[in-house]
Amino acid sequence: MMNSKSLLLMPAFLLATLATTAHAIDSPVLADIQARVGAMETKMIGWRRDIHQHPELSNQEHRTAALVAEHLRRLGLEVRTNVGGTGIVGVLRGAHPGKVVALRADMDALPVKELVDLPFASRAKGKHMGREVDVMHACGHDGHTAILMATAEVLSGMKDRIHGTVKFIFQPAEEGPSEASQHEGEHIGALAMVDAGVLDNPRVDAVFGLHLMPGFPVGTVAYRPGPILASGDSFSIKVSGKQTHGGFPWNGIDPIVSAAQIVMGMQTIVSRQLDLSREPAVLSIGAIRGGNRENIIPDSVEMLGTVRTFDDGMRADTLERMRTTAESIARASGASAEVRFQQPGYAPTINDEALTAQMLPTLKRVTDGKAVLAPKLSASEDFSEYQKKVPGMFFFLGATGPGRNPATAAPNHSPKFEIDEAALAVGARTMTALALDYLGRD
Ligand SMILES: [Zn+2]
Ligand SMILES: [Zn+2]
Repeated sequence: MMNSKSLLLMPAFLLATLATTAHAIDSPVLADIQARVGAMETKMIGWRRDIHQHPELSNQEHRTAALVAEHLRRLGLEVRTNVGGTGIVGVLRGAHPGKVVALRADMDALPVKELVDLPFASRAKGKHMGREVDVMHACGHDGHTAILMATAEVLSGMKDRIHGTVKFIFQPAEEGPSEASQHEGEHIGALAMVDAGVLDNPRVDAVFGLHLMPGFPVGTVAYRPGPILASGDSFSIKVSGKQTHGGFPWNGIDPIVSAAQIVMGMQTIVSRQLDLSREPAVLSIGAIRGGNRENIIPDSVEMLGTVRTFDDGMRADTLERMRTTAESIARASGASAEVRFQQPGYAPTINDEALTAQMLPTLKRVTDGKAVLAPKLSASEDFSEYQKKVPGMFFFLGATGPGRNPATAAPNHSPKFEIDEAALAVGARTMTALALDYLGRD
């Protein structure tokens, strides 16, 4: 027996499990969801293929957004367009009063040349940072959009049984800017939609999002309470010295040696200064540029890199230490270092523990037990911007088909990225069940 004292000592997520297990979706409703999603699976796959064949880069998702808006209008939803750029919001009011749940999909593609042999493979071109590039849905956002369009249709058909409101968020620019004209600090993607009030009017109580992931077999979903995806901060370091002849380095200040020391010093922040028993962290330098001749020590060196953490406090601490480390090492030789972080970066995606525990029975039920605990992934997502404002849960949707090894499947952003389309129905069933179970239903 559980007494009140032991209840008080229980973590919030266990309490939530106790409180809500009884609401986990029951067989008739599950069968109804399965039938409704099954009946429109071919249509959903058709949308995905159409969007796949017509991929659009960040904040250029005009065709995709128009497709989504037209579909939501046809369903009779309240539709808002141009929310935070090309974003679309659809509001479905259930027959009964209740809470508000938001479901989010992202719509943008990447500057990647598709190498998958599909009849609907992309041959599209687009403008990325002012240059013409090949464009591909190499992150599965075509699937996310199709899944949410289908979920909107299924839930519209079940409106009479919904207690509360479902908000469908179709977000642009998850992958970051594609326009060279975008100025430093400008809000795009999730942040721009939050600025535009997507979580208000009516106020959202909880938000769910998913991501197609070839690392898991199709049929599974992977969840994780707490941090699931890392923060992502891009940075540049400019090391300035004094140009001189390579034969007389004492006549100048060598920024190349200083830059080399900074690269090594940066690695000791993660290995020697951060409490890695709390959360892991990763710091990578991806580019070093400087100099043009073997016997000239250049005036300056520029480095580019990325840093990832799973905790807001560790993130702030790491960025601070990076600045101190680079500046101090440069100063030791008379050089100077300027560290700049691209604003705004991505915060870690941290799933609300109580909400995750509350929805876990639903995830298990709707996948017939194939809900697995996900590892932390050191990729980033701007879904974190919604989670800063309201409790949210982000999960992975298994995308690798039978007979293939999820561990060796081409990852997101690869030109060979591929999904098994059976994942789309799993995604639509899961999103529908999450919304219904969160809100409560007849
Ligand atoms: Zn991506
Ligand atoms: Zn993505």
